[in-house]
Amino acid sequence: MGRQSTGEPQYFSPKIEYAVVLDKMKDEFNKKFTRNTPSPTCGLDNFLVKATLGSGSFGKVQLVKELESDNFYASKQLSKEQIIKTKQVSHVMSEKRVLNSIRFPFTVHLISSFKDTDSLYLILPLILGGELFTYHRKVRKFGEKQARFYAAQVFLALEYLHHCSLLYRDLKPENIMLDKNGYIKVTDFGFAKKVETRTMTLCGTPEYLPPEIIQSKPYGTSVDWWAFGVLIYEFVAGHSPFSAHNRDVMIMYTKICEADYKLPGSFSSALRHLVDHLLQVDLSKRFGNLIGGTKDIKDHEWFKEVDWTTMLNQTIQAPYVPTISNAEDISNFDKQSEGKRKPKAKTVRHEEAFADF
Ligand code: ATP
Ligand code: MG
Repeated sequence: MGRQSTGEPQYFSPKIEYAVVLDKMKDEFNKKFTRNTPSPTCGLDNFLVKATLGSGSFGKVQLVKELESDNFYASKQLSKEQIIKTKQVSHVMSEKRVLNSIRFPFTVHLISSFKDTDSLYLILPLILGGELFTYHRKVRKFGEKQARFYAAQVFLALEYLHHCSLLYRDLKPENIMLDKNGYIKVTDFGFAKKVETRTMTLCGTPEYLPPEIIQSKPYGTSVDWWAFGVLIYEFVAGHSPFSAHNRDVMIMYTKICEADYKLPGSFSSALRHLVDHLLQVDLSKRFGNLIGGTKDIKDHEWFKEVDWTTMLNQTIQAPYVPTISNAEDISNFDKQSEGKRKPKAKTVRHEEAFADF
């Protein structure tokens, strides 16, 4: 099956210009993205299901053990019926192709995939530190230093994905996992899409939607930078800038479209400046979307103390290291995904069969 290990660490040399490294990673992405091999129809026959880690919109994510190798993985199972009912065929095909093509320190990737009569299965590296959502809820807020540690990795992941012409479109702490060393892995590429210019699809999670998606305007990578602003705000404030006080989502959307939110007095001036320039309704002012590109964020005062190469090489001690007592310890996961924000209904324009999955 040509299985890979869950990832030999990539080494990033400070001597090689990162723009050159990004271009090389993009070439590798494109080579894989153009090739799609249909998955074997053996379902999970070669795996033993050990536990459920999470439940998603179309099925569940389970901890599985491969019988032949005794290796543990996460299996994301998607129900074909559910996918067709909600007209998500093209999104699922894209999820598989994207996962199969990306390779980056802070994203998960596809190990292998299978299908059977009822379901599709994506086999992913098993990330046992749980969701950043669960940990964040437990500690309520991150100090700016800790928030910066996670935000820097999310930034690098988005920069890489955008460089490969991918939009991520579902950034939130529920989709960010902590690995055994306390570094992050972005998971859930269910909304990721390769776009060369602009797209129109309405998708994402309400609290994280940018004005241009709410207003059905064509959009590009700017949507992920807005969500990045919401994420950093939430890390440090302990709540989302636009959480619906009265649970009225329309009022929340109005506030989002006017960037009507309050910056807590506890935010440092550098953080206030960064958040203010990410939560910009005006796309000609939003950081990440300007002539300076990602540099406006990377070189920002708030990220000044980050050594980006060291971060990529994951050689500094993480602020929090999850306790994982064995290869199948699921104690960092919620029993069920209660109280989690679900993505908005996804809309697509056409259906296809699963032959190519
Ligand atoms: P939703 O619609 O709720 O966003 P989804 O169907 O798109 O969910 P994912 O977000 O990919 O599914 O996965 C659901 C949950 O399963 C995650 O939030 C996480 O708790 C868990 N999970 C996903 N991938 C992994 C992994 N590689 N290792 C461990 N747990 C994982
Ligand atoms: Mg998810």
